[in-house]
Amino acid sequence: MRKKIVAGNWKMNKTPSEAVELVNMLKPLCANEDVDVVFCVPAIDIIPAMEAAKGSNIAIGAENMYYEESGAYTGEISPAMLVDAGVKYVVLGHSERREYFAETNETVNKKMLKAFEHGITPIMCCGETLEQREQGVTMDFIRQQVKVGFLNVTADQAKTAVIAYEPIWAIGTGKTATTEQAQEVCAEIRKCIAEIYDDATAAAIRIQYGGSVNAKTAPDLFAQADIDGGLVGGASLKADFGQIVNYNK
Ligand code: 13P
Repeated sequence: MRKKIVAGNWKMNKTPSEAVELVNMLKPLCANEDVDVVFCVPAIDIIPAMEAAKGSNIAIGAENMYYEESGAYTGEISPAMLVDAGVKYVVLGHSERREYFAETNETVNKKMLKAFEHGITPIMCCGETLEQREQGVTMDFIRQQVKVGFLNVTADQAKTAVIAYEPIWAIGTGKTATTEQAQEVCAEIRKCIAEIYDDATAAAIRIQYGGSVNAKTAPDLFAQADIDGGLVGGASLKADFGQIVNYNK
């Protein structure tokens, strides 16, 4: 059985002192042994959030990282920096990074390989635009994102990875995909992993749904056969995140 993983993506929100406040507020609300709980926070919040989360079940993740080891890459954060800070997870290829910061399937793949090399679990995002959904090319587009994203990733590495299916039209819009829509695509992503690797890898990899997840929609979404939790934006900044983490209580 795959363990559920519920991750918050804070995006560009919360100063370091606000981060400490939010972790302290959510810490008691997010206790749930059945679920891996991750807060993916801005780089500058990682260390204070990590301090504040000590002794709890909350793991701190990053929202991005670079694929080079070190050097003249002004403004970037290296995998070794994340590891040294105690980071276990990194969100890669979020649609906002693809849209505003020119990330491509190829750069996401380089980051995936580096994350595995350093023992950081990638949460690789994929998802279609509304236009693509309407044109019926959702799965072609996502298959390509997954295929290129996992290029040269071994089956053993892929088994530990997390994929977040985030339809772009559902992000920050209050328009959650229906459970059927979310399950359908997550099942197809799992099939795609089975084609690239094998059934055992497909059975092990965890696939999250993301896009306007809230305390009301989480229980149905997370009960679907191929949905192993969620990547949560807006609702991860509020007490509601505790309810989402405890969707099964
Ligand atoms: P919202 O939950 O705010 O729609 O954001 C989803 C998301 O992009 C998480 O990565």
